[in-house]
Amino acid sequence: MNLKELYQELILDHGKNPRNLKKTENFNKDAKGHNPLCGDKVHIYLKLNENKKVEEASFEGSGCAISMASASIMTELVKGKEVNDVKELIKDFLEMIKEKNALKSNNLSEDEKTKLMSLSGVQQYPMRVKCATLSWHTLTSAINNKKDEINTEKLD
Ligand code: ZN
Repeated sequence: MNLKELYQELILDHGKNPRNLKKTENFNKDAKGHNPLCGDKVHIYLKLNENKKVEEASFEGSGCAISMASASIMTELVKGKEVNDVKELIKDFLEMIKEKNALKSNNLSEDEKTKLMSLSGVQQYPMRVKCATLSWHTLTSAINNKKDEINTEKLD
């Protein structure tokens, strides 16, 4: 299996069987996001502990395979990380997707990097970039306690 096939497998797997697709009990951060171009909707839930570590991360929503796979992979990756590391991760991911960069973070395992890079295929399809980034923008909103719903058409 080459890298491209591995990436496709990962997206299909997470798109069909999203991990953490539920509402977190006792969440203390949440935000909603909407991608009107595709119809993707997500509601992200986080439970941070007193040390600002993500104890639980989950999402509810519906949409295309890319948006569901992205939310699934994202919630898996942020669990157990500190908020500052999560912010770094979001920045790194968004730059990788939008500017076709490699990931810069040194804090990720090879397995985590592979999961993130599986979403890099959308770089060739500008419409799908919004599907892949929706949950990440929404996560930022949740961390920053923003109350307005994220709308991918109103982001730059
Ligand atoms: Zn979509």
